[in-house]
Amino acid sequence: MECADIPRGRFAPSPSGRIHLGNILCCLLAWLSVRQRGGRVVLRVEDLDTARCPRRYAAQIEEDLRWLGLDWDEGPGAGGPDGPYYQSERTALYQAALERLADMGLVYPCFCTRAELHAASAPHREDGQVVYGGTCRCLTAAEAAERAKVRSPALRLRVPEEEIAFTDGHMGPYRESLAWDCGDFLLRRSDGMFAYQLAVVVDDAAMGVTEVVRGADLLSSTPRQLLLYRLLGLTAPSFIHFPLLLAPDGRRLSKRDVDAGLDSLRGRVTAAEVLGKLAYLAGFNPSAEPRTAEALLADFSWQKVPGEDIRIPAELF
Ligand code: GLU
Repeated sequence: MECADIPRGRFAPSPSGRIHLGNILCCLLAWLSVRQRGGRVVLRVEDLDTARCPRRYAAQIEEDLRWLGLDWDEGPGAGGPDGPYYQSERTALYQAALERLADMGLVYPCFCTRAELHAASAPHREDGQVVYGGTCRCLTAAEAAERAKVRSPALRLRVPEEEIAFTDGHMGPYRESLAWDCGDFLLRRSDGMFAYQLAVVVDDAAMGVTEVVRGADLLSSTPRQLLLYRLLGLTAPSFIHFPLLLAPDGRRLSKRDVDAGLDSLRGRVTAAEVLGKLAYLAGFNPSAEPRTAEALLADFSWQKVPGEDIRIPAELF
């Protein structure tokens, strides 16, 4: 068993393409935040969606992280006690957690189609997701069995009418009423794929992660995850969400932004140039000069990182 005082961070990329500058900033911040305190880093590959995340993309991400000088102590290529480190190989753990929740009477089958979920009347969250209205919440066992003959159901968690509040390490206090802002959320899709919310909680707990660093787009997922930690009797890590990097025109970066992807960048710039420029944008490199991850340890502090989204200037990369 590891010493409980040693912070443990993680990289948790979804290998659905080549990593872009936003993913790199995420890994850099996660790495600096724990390494500065002598902590350890776990690499976990979030490839639950095996059709979109072939293993060759994961291998490419591992290679890109090595090129960047962002190393990990446990994970693919490094081994460790909490493997396997690919989510696609950990489904038995998610199934066990699902069964625990089901034993508490908190899981129910949902037969709603995508079209039904997106019906115009359904309220939407700020992040564009639909707030589930609870259509299937009160189906009797007989009704559910009847419907299951024609359509395999997704599985949802029955959320309590409760507000979940926590203090984010960078964004400050955040709260959400689960029933109103989110509704009963998915644990497993109708095709059998486990939901991110469940898998990430099971894995961060099983891997002893004490600090989760990720983009502010996942801030609103955190109350759902905190609920799952509580229901499963697991200790939650601390959460630090950082502002998103935006393309020069103000759009959110995505894997389709080829110019911001490492395939285009690696031919033109060094790893220290990428990291130095990102650190400059994120406030902890005084200029855009090249810096290695190791060299940035001295200057990094969360206080320097802005709270607002960061637009990448057109000529920077
Ligand atoms: N796999 C997720 C992503 O790449 C990250 C999940 C997390 O950090 O909790 O967006």
